[in-house]
Amino acid sequence: MSQTRREFMGTVSTAAAVCLTTKVDANDDPPSDPGYIDAHSHIWTRDIEAYPLANGNTLDDLKPPSFTTEELLELVRPHGVTRIVLIQHRPYHGVDNSYMLDSIKKYPGVFTAVACVDATKSDVTSEMSRLQKEGAGAFRITPSEDGTTPWTESKGVRSMWQHAGEHGMTICPLINPEHLPMADKMCEEYPDTPVVIDHFSRIGGDGVIRETDLKTLAGLARHKHTHVKVSAFYAFGKKQPPYDDLISMIRRLYDAYGPERLMWASDLPYQLNGDNTYGDSLALIRERIDFLSPADKEWLLRKTAARVYFGESVSA
Ligand SMILES: [Zn+2]
Repeated sequence: MSQTRREFMGTVSTAAAVCLTTKVDANDDPPSDPGYIDAHSHIWTRDIEAYPLANGNTLDDLKPPSFTTEELLELVRPHGVTRIVLIQHRPYHGVDNSYMLDSIKKYPGVFTAVACVDATKSDVTSEMSRLQKEGAGAFRITPSEDGTTPWTESKGVRSMWQHAGEHGMTICPLINPEHLPMADKMCEEYPDTPVVIDHFSRIGGDGVIRETDLKTLAGLARHKHTHVKVSAFYAFGKKQPPYDDLISMIRRLYDAYGPERLMWASDLPYQLNGDNTYGDSLALIRERIDFLSPADKEWLLRKTAARVYFGESVSA
């Protein structure tokens, strides 16, 4: 292990001691330590005058009642996490990405975002370009944007994959294992489009990690711009820390994708569910997996997300 790597992995407890008593303020400089990147968190605020709720939701529907940008930063910084990829919460905010965009502006260098757009609208690609200029150059999609049409038959979704590939944007599918064959087809048809599959494609969501599903997800590694988020541990397998039952699944993906195409993420605030804590999520990658070298951990905890979402050039 190089000195730099040792320092990187060893600075966390010091950062924790400093940050525990620090309130987050928009005037704070981002920490100078490169720190970890959490590649997936949602945010919402009770300031619904500035950021109205969508889909008929009211303040009573927000669970937890509030998870603001500041609450997020106060939670993660003691753990040495310095940057975060915000994920649009479509149930609460629809395709109005403004709370994320304002957070990117308020804390320069700390956030980037995965936005949602309406793929059924004719201006979907110009909306993508507008959002990219505002700092959200990645886009979340679900199996059927209009409720029925699969991606392979949707003009709007096809134009999203194509536009993303041509303009350095990323497509982020939130899917179940049964949708992997459809994702595979899209990756094949749009081989230049960077893709990040959320949450292991939810393998193990019903408690059972099936070999057939793992084989299909591992198979998508043949597309060289496809990545997997190793994330949302509270939701898979036994759904209990320390999540050791997920290690064999992570090993399988490590062998298929390599550490340079895997990234850790928490899925806050949902990781804070029952006995699950933020520290438990980070600890699985940082402390509990023997086959991950210190260099591998740098990829999973920072470098892959830095390259894919923050557009940094990172070297091996
Ligand atoms: Zn999420």
